[in-house]
Amino acid sequence: MTTTTAQTAPHPLQQRDTMVIVGAGLVGSVLALGLKARGFDVAIYERRADPRRAAAGGGRSINLALSDRGMLALAAAGLTADVESVVIAMPGRQMHGKDGSSTFMPYGLNGEAIRSVSRGGLNLTLMTACERAGIPIHFEHRCEHIDLKTTTASFSAPSGAVVVEAGSIAGADGASSAVRAAFMKTDRFDYSQSYLPHGYKEITIPAAADGGFRFEKNALHIWPRSSFMLIALPNLDGSFTGTLFLAHDGERESFAALTTPTAAREFFASQFPDAFAQMDDFDEQWATNPVSSLNTVTCAPWSRGCTFLIGDASHAIVPFFGQGMNAGFEDCRILFDLIDDARADGEEVALSSSSSSSSSSSWAALLERFFVSRKPNADAIATLALENFVEMRDKVGQPEFLYRKQVEAAFARACPDVVTPAYTMVTFRPLLGYADALARARAQDAVLNTLCSNDLVRRHLAGDRNIADEVAGVFKEAADRLQR
Ligand code: FAD
Repeated sequence: MTTTTAQTAPHPLQQRDTMVIVGAGLVGSVLALGLKARGFDVAIYERRADPRRAAAGGGRSINLALSDRGMLALAAAGLTADVESVVIAMPGRQMHGKDGSSTFMPYGLNGEAIRSVSRGGLNLTLMTACERAGIPIHFEHRCEHIDLKTTTASFSAPSGAVVVEAGSIAGADGASSAVRAAFMKTDRFDYSQSYLPHGYKEITIPAAADGGFRFEKNALHIWPRSSFMLIALPNLDGSFTGTLFLAHDGERESFAALTTPTAAREFFASQFPDAFAQMDDFDEQWATNPVSSLNTVTCAPWSRGCTFLIGDASHAIVPFFGQGMNAGFEDCRILFDLIDDARADGEEVALSSSSSSSSSSSWAALLERFFVSRKPNADAIATLALENFVEMRDKVGQPEFLYRKQVEAAFARACPDVVTPAYTMVTFRPLLGYADALARARAQDAVLNTLCSNDLVRRHLAGDRNIADEVAGVFKEAADRLQR
């Protein structure tokens, strides 16, 4: 595919049989690969420069937790082997107390793990896979305007303006989407954005002198401190990327209160002494690394004609369930499934050279079905992610919570066909929708409340083996209640 460039008022390029994807981020790249594999002509436009040409090194290493939902979508794009070789398995979380003690809590019932992966590394892998598949990526093309009526995208590029009349446009351009900005001007487009009072700052814990890990390699580390927390995920080079989540404002325990390097150092050293002890360059990192904000974005609908939103552009969530990218990858998998199903039913799913053809209207109808099937799940994971913040920063440090987790695991082992812990449903059951996971988690919560206050269960978990039959009866009765 070629594009025209000019200094002013360029002649729009007719690309009616092309899917223009705005954003070569994590979701845009996976979307491009899956659509290309289904016969679509795809071109990506990305505002950043090619990271493979930009000066290597020097940047901070930022990592993400990749779970089974993300892996399923990556498998569909044929990328399992590329990704598995660059991840670190995290089968549980390691909680750190202020006194230097730590406790490990497995994530799954059977040793299942989430994976720590470098955001930049994964993005490079995906971009390279796109180019290998013959998908052009136009770097340094910033989307400035979308005309929804004519499905036309306008970009600013170093050589001037570029205008493309496409068959379809995907807004995979993240939480501050420029494509979504065009939707905002249309009638009956719902939009909400809500910021957390907490922000975050990244702090790297370096590798040991011999290149080894200073904490357990195979764990997601958490320093829960009630109203704030530090977390850290391992990197392949032996370092950990730490993230401090702390209130923006407030006289105490807030970013606003840490006005001097000394105040920041004292706060960190007193709250996270074992992590602080491993850092030689805390002052420099604190001064250099920005404080960023966290927000939830919801909107509806996600398509107007043949232009649609996907990933963070349609549903940005807070990071506390480690599911934003995973949910975006799942968007792609669900869209691919809809295309495959429609074709299996004999429907023509293609972009055509005319914007008014029947294939365009069938593609627009498929995008509407995508929104209807996906929106409840996007809303559910947004809710779960907000709730998990309280669990991570506060509850994981409390004995009652650890006991509840024990009860939940025992209940799930006793009645595996009926009960699945909420974390397992969200993270390790990729074929279960987030909305179903949320509904089942709510029902289980109510039953767990009664089990946690049951004396027989408490004695059983304390090691009393003489009441095994009675406890089995209690679990069976609770499971029956859940099924009613
Ligand atoms: P982005 O990753 O934002 O990509 C958008 C792309 O579009 C970028 O390449 C951008 O340069 C480009 N772009 C933007 N505007 C334009 C424009 N106007 N023109 C052209 N191109 C444009 N998720 C997880 O699953 N697990 C985690 O552990 C996790 N941890 C997180 C931790 C933090 C602190 C945060 C903030 C988020 C975390 N997330 C996590 C969420 C995850 O980062 C996002 O959900 C994911 O990056 C969304 O991917 P995306 O491709 O939709 O958007």
